[in-house]
Amino acid sequence: MNPTTDFVFPPPSVPSLAVVGSSARFPVRRILCVGRNYAAHRREMGGSDRDPPCFFAKPADALVDVSGGGAVPYPTATAELHHEVELVVALGAGGADVAVERALDLVFGYTVGVDLTRRDLQNALKAKAHPWEAAKGFDASAPLGAIQPAQSGVTPDGRIWLTVNDQRRQEAQLSDMIWSVAETIAQASRLWRLEAGDLIFTGTPEGVGPLLRGDRVACGVDGVGAIAFEVA
Ligand code: MN
Repeated sequence: MNPTTDFVFPPPSVPSLAVVGSSARFPVRRILCVGRNYAAHRREMGGSDRDPPCFFAKPADALVDVSGGGAVPYPTATAELHHEVELVVALGAGGADVAVERALDLVFGYTVGVDLTRRDLQNALKAKAHPWEAAKGFDASAPLGAIQPAQSGVTPDGRIWLTVNDQRRQEAQLSDMIWSVAETIAQASRLWRLEAGDLIFTGTPEGVGPLLRGDRVACGVDGVGAIAFEVA
């Protein structure tokens, strides 16, 4: 963009995340999400194992950096806010129609995020075959931790988990994912041109459930990190 461009009012700030081991931040361009990427969660949501994966998006400014803890507001317009812990891939390079074998070359790093969901609204929208934005892309619907750079040698491997008030709600192995990180990037790149700054939520395992005001949420992915926040 031309640095001398005049705007009718100051442009919005760039949403960003902390980066482990760096004072520089990761600028977020888009947030893509995969639905139903773990077989047991797919079943608990009433799908069959043959459903193709589906993508949806959240606005970039829906993110909340909870790398230092903090609070996430309980959203309006729901009585059934659900947690979905997910491995999140942060891209440092872009591409379209990327081959699975090259897909990991695009990865800048990894973090853990929660795909907060207005489940009651999502069920109502699904029943009408309406889009999911109001159920998934609301303000502060994407609490995220600091990005662990892939060049640090980190490879997500092992457990993904979430607790509410120290009670275990979700726990699975990343190897339970139906579509691998590389396959997910490759598939997304057939639908959108990916760019540096894109985040991809890779889906949640079984055990999704409700959050109430005052709940303390903690979650993590082995080899990537952990976050904690309160529902305010
Ligand atoms: Mn999700």
